[in-house]
Amino acid sequence: MKINVTRSSMPSFEEYCEEIKDLWESHWLTNMGAKHKQLEANLKEYLNTQNVILYTNGHLALENIITAMNFPKGSGVITTPFTFVSTTHAIVRNGLVPVFCDINDKDYTIDASKIESLITEKTVAIVPVHVYGNMCDVEKIEEIATKHGLKVIYDAAHAFGVKYKGISSANFGDASMFSFHATKVFNTIEGGAVTFKDEKLARLLNDMKNFGIRGPESVAYIGGNAKMSEFQAAMGICNLRHIDEEIQKRKNATQKYRALLGGIKGIKLTCEQEDVISNYAYFPVVFDGYKYTRDEIFDMLRENDIVARKYFYPLTNEIECYKDFPSANVKDTPVAKYIADRVLTLPLYADLSSSDIERICKIILS
Ligand SMILES: *Cc1c(COP(=O)(O)O)cnc(C)c1O
Repeated sequence: MKINVTRSSMPSFEEYCEEIKDLWESHWLTNMGAKHKQLEANLKEYLNTQNVILYTNGHLALENIITAMNFPKGSGVITTPFTFVSTTHAIVRNGLVPVFCDINDKDYTIDASKIESLITEKTVAIVPVHVYGNMCDVEKIEEIATKHGLKVIYDAAHAFGVKYKGISSANFGDASMFSFHATKVFNTIEGGAVTFKDEKLARLLNDMKNFGIRGPESVAYIGGNAKMSEFQAAMGICNLRHIDEEIQKRKNATQKYRALLGGIKGIKLTCEQEDVISNYAYFPVVFDGYKYTRDEIFDMLRENDIVARKYFYPLTNEIECYKDFPSANVKDTPVAKYIADRVLTLPLYADLSSSDIERICKIILS
């Protein structure tokens, strides 16, 4: 039986049908209808945050919140290359210059001790990325941002429901972007959201996702279209009912993996962060001095119909569309390069069975 790297969480067929029944009565399918309003309210409560704006995907949410900050074109934004291309694309598509900071080798988030040396008079913001359910060093980042007058926008696509010292991941920095893509811990099929501190940004973000339309005869801003539909919102309403149980199941699967792969020479597991309640989004394993390389393990799993993922590999500062950028030099981020060449995320989803985890680990250890 094939095991994929992930498997989307879904409510029962009946639960979803029950949720979308209203839509056959209202014939209101998109444009911030009742489901959209409901999901926004439910997320404010679940994420324990004041301002939430939904989007049709996480990428446009990130692009729009960066646009909303109104930085001068050509300004520098400090970020990491150890991420999904979306982060770097969102910066560059806004006419800004990504300045790549290295990551730390414990939790693979931005190495906050290296940020200050990259700040110049052109720097306007930091876009750090929470990875795998681990949180960035939010305290240190805030200290640096305050000292230098920089904005902080988190790519929190991997950090839905994660808490640091009891505080929701949605409440750090000036804003955070969440992705509700089918492969994420919480999904609305495709979807995303921005959470933010300054409530004055709400109007602009709403303008950006709906053509700048403010009334039947009023278009006040040159916006695009990035609205979440009622069917996506309905999926989110259903999935949110089960999210705590899903995260608990991911935690159990992660503990099983840790029990089987922990303490083995050449196999490095990600640290369990102090003061962080994780969502167990991914299970990354770094093969460093093990009897097989990452690529050999990847191939062996493939031969057994098990799909792992080289994630994040390649780095965004070494992929073809950025490799000629003056600011993209993989030599500047040696730790990120080292990890990207050795990391493999193993299959992980709520319903991954113990026996499947045993099978996967047996192949790796054989
Ligand atoms: C998934 C993801 C995104 C993009 O989100 P989409 O909803 O797929 O547009 C951005 N950054 C990271 C780190 C992601 O994992």
